[in-house]
Amino acid sequence: MRTIVAGNWKMHKDRASAKALVDVVTAASPSLPTNVDMVLAPPFPFLEMAVQQARGSRIGIAAQNCHEAAQGAYTGEVSVGMLASIGVTHCIVGHSERRQYFGETDPVVGTKVVALLEHGITPIYCCGERKEERQAGAHFDVVTEQMKGALGKLDNDHLQRVVIAYEPVWAIGTGLTATSRQAQDMHAHIRSMLHMHGSRVAEEVPILYGGSCKPDNATELFAGPDVNGGLIGGAALDADQFLELIRIAGRTKA
Ligand code: PEP
Repeated sequence: MRTIVAGNWKMHKDRASAKALVDVVTAASPSLPTNVDMVLAPPFPFLEMAVQQARGSRIGIAAQNCHEAAQGAYTGEVSVGMLASIGVTHCIVGHSERRQYFGETDPVVGTKVVALLEHGITPIYCCGERKEERQAGAHFDVVTEQMKGALGKLDNDHLQRVVIAYEPVWAIGTGLTATSRQAQDMHAHIRSMLHMHGSRVAEEVPILYGGSCKPDNATELFAGPDVNGGLIGGAALDADQFLELIRIAGRTKA
């Protein structure tokens, strides 16, 4: 099972600071642990530049969203074919901010996942419960329904090429983080759902943790046997913290 550390930059940085951050990570990459795959997700305007900067390195470049249609009158949207044509390797889908602010639903996310896989782009599918859902003890059911809604119709060939990110909504950008036990328990639950599609799928699909993951809590979070790395927001905007997270993942998963 590969370990992945992916940085979601959200709507941050300008061209110069985006270029500088990709440069630092690219320059450091030969000395970073070889057991960790690195992915950077800059905003759309900087994607092609980042792909070119990362060319020849081990760094994958992700979009933060895509539209599910091949083309058409969807002002402001970006198709999967466009992303593929500039060399994007991954795409985050179903992030809680897209669910909350843009009404993204699991059936739509499922369509995006299929379009991405058909273009050879790896979807990073985000799921996770809200605070009140955890307080009500409904977190496993919520994630089960999200997974079924978005990934339930995929055949095994498609499913085994997906990356899943468990991101409890209450932990994203809040400084609150799941305990290592809470993270591992949910990851084990997701893994057991994948097992229903056979051991090959369960063994192939990495499950990342996301939600205020930082160098000072990552060793504990990454230690869970079903935690295969992290989707990092705030700490991915800072080169030192992001590189440290990659090193921690490398050590923890060695
Ligand atoms: C995210 O947005 O995917 C995320 C995990 O953010 P943060 O690390 O800032 O909580």
